[in-house]
Amino acid sequence: MIYSDTKMTEMEEFCKILPKVELHAHINGSVSEDTIQKLLTKKQNLDHQFSFKKGSTATLKQCFEKFRMIHQLTDNVDSVYQVTYDVIHEFNDDNVKYLELRTTPRAVTDTGMTQELYVEAVLRAIQDCESEDLDIRVRLLLAIDRRNGVQRGWETVRLAQKLGTSYGDIIVGIDLSGDPNVPAPVETMDLLSLPPDRIGHGTCLHPEAAGRQEFVDTVLARKTPLELCLTSNLIGQTVPNLDNHQFKFWYEKKHPCIICTDDKGVFSTSLSEEYQLAATTFDLTPSDLWRLSEDSIKHAFCEEKVKEKLREKWKKYKSQIEQQFSLKL
Ligand SMILES: [Zn+2]
Repeated sequence: MIYSDTKMTEMEEFCKILPKVELHAHINGSVSEDTIQKLLTKKQNLDHQFSFKKGSTATLKQCFEKFRMIHQLTDNVDSVYQVTYDVIHEFNDDNVKYLELRTTPRAVTDTGMTQELYVEAVLRAIQDCESEDLDIRVRLLLAIDRRNGVQRGWETVRLAQKLGTSYGDIIVGIDLSGDPNVPAPVETMDLLSLPPDRIGHGTCLHPEAAGRQEFVDTVLARKTPLELCLTSNLIGQTVPNLDNHQFKFWYEKKHPCIICTDDKGVFSTSLSEEYQLAATTFDLTPSDLWRLSEDSIKHAFCEEKVKEKLREKWKKYKSQIEQQFSLKL
């Protein structure tokens, strides 16, 4: 559907005001231009050739460069803290009420940052934001990059257990990540047999995408929620265009779908923009978007009492938004 300009503006406004749940956001990929500039001023010796202006179009090559630069900038605990703190504030400004961040613990010998100190910096930033009384709850998943081997994986699990006890309920899960360009079907089969509580992207499930029909059938039968990231997949070229994005397939089957950003900084997007993109591409109504956002609460990894609070919040926003936009959600 082609939206007229007025309708577009209204949809844009609606998506912005809509209370949202973000369940797939990598801390480093979410770093904004503003934070990059902030960190660059502290790193005099870093090559500035990678700086990006706000709103510049991101090509895949530029995105990789941006990832590389962020990697260089976040080699110490202070930067890791700053990045996490800013990312939470930015999601809060975008009306995200519940945020699950994910990150791979990283050690840098030169700066004395160990994996444990890295995760602690992230946890401190989350706690500090919480004490500021922002209208957002934040939880954390520690990521295991499958390419780094079994031993490193176990270290991450132990770290999650250890810091999970000392930092209350913040760490809620483990993310098994890896390069989707080397998805041996056997590996996908192993991962599905765990079974996972949610699946990120789900780009390699279909037979046309190096997957198998039985993967699709298993995910459908188990109703495993999918975290779907439109802009990321488009720029990352895992789909040729948005009309062919897997969202359509799963959404039409009424499968649990969660709209997520993946790397809002690197891909120059926001969760509001992702909702808007889904609406315009797949012809979704404000009520459809409302349902997608409200249903996402169900799939969060936080405790039930946090979900209850979020549902109450959604109820409150519902009547406000219905009034403001003169519609029935
Ligand atoms: Zn991701």
